[in-house]
Amino acid sequence: MITPLSYYDLVEAFPAPGCAICRLVLRDVEKYLDGILYEYVMEADTQHRYRAARGMCNQHGWQLTTLSGGAMGIAVLTQVTVNDLLKLTAQDTHAVPAALTFGERLRTRTRGDNAGKALADALEPTGDCPACVKQEAAQTAYLSLFDRYLDDERFFAAYQTSQGLCLPHLRSVLRDLGTSRLVGQVIAVQRRVWAQLHADLEAFQANYRNENRHLAMGAEGDSWLRGVGTLIGDRGAG
Ligand SMILES: [Zn+2]
Ligand SMILES: [Zn+2]
Repeated sequence: MITPLSYYDLVEAFPAPGCAICRLVLRDVEKYLDGILYEYVMEADTQHRYRAARGMCNQHGWQLTTLSGGAMGIAVLTQVTVNDLLKLTAQDTHAVPAALTFGERLRTRTRGDNAGKALADALEPTGDCPACVKQEAAQTAYLSLFDRYLDDERFFAAYQTSQGLCLPHLRSVLRDLGTSRLVGQVIAVQRRVWAQLHADLEAFQANYRNENRHLAMGAEGDSWLRGVGTLIGDRGAG
């Protein structure tokens, strides 16, 4: 069977700080957003997905705006989406199924006709955020490597050099593992990482009370921040 590219990505990502799956998923989503803005913005499929999601989810929509040089692409996608909103709310073609037009309903102030609800429903997204879909697929691909390659020498050696996984990704990996032996291998690495974090947090608190704490801090200086990532995953990767 051909080794998937995600295997090599994960093996290379393990030694860097933090949860490798979080890091790779965030990288893949950023690449995807980049691709949308710089290569695929005029493609029917890109526009269809963006329109269906009525933009993107809050997180990915704003992430899109942080990519440099993306203003033109965002303008194109937003305009076609706003065009849909105008069509859906046009008085003569609005999506509210009723004898009266939307404007007439407003004027007559009919109570209990659910006009607002019907229009709100029509304005709901009809598809998921495309970046969330991409994120989910990437995450599934990386997670599935554990059960398949944990016995692979290179994979396991790289995993052992890692700082473990964030708790959400660890839980997902554990659920997929087929044997208690594999569970034991994964959790042994993770417990070493947690024990180190625990000690670093202890040292951090001791040094924080020190007047010269800026001089006294070592590797434990960022343990409070690392700890947040260890418990909930990297920002935006969950
Ligand atoms: Zn993670
Ligand atoms: Zn999203």
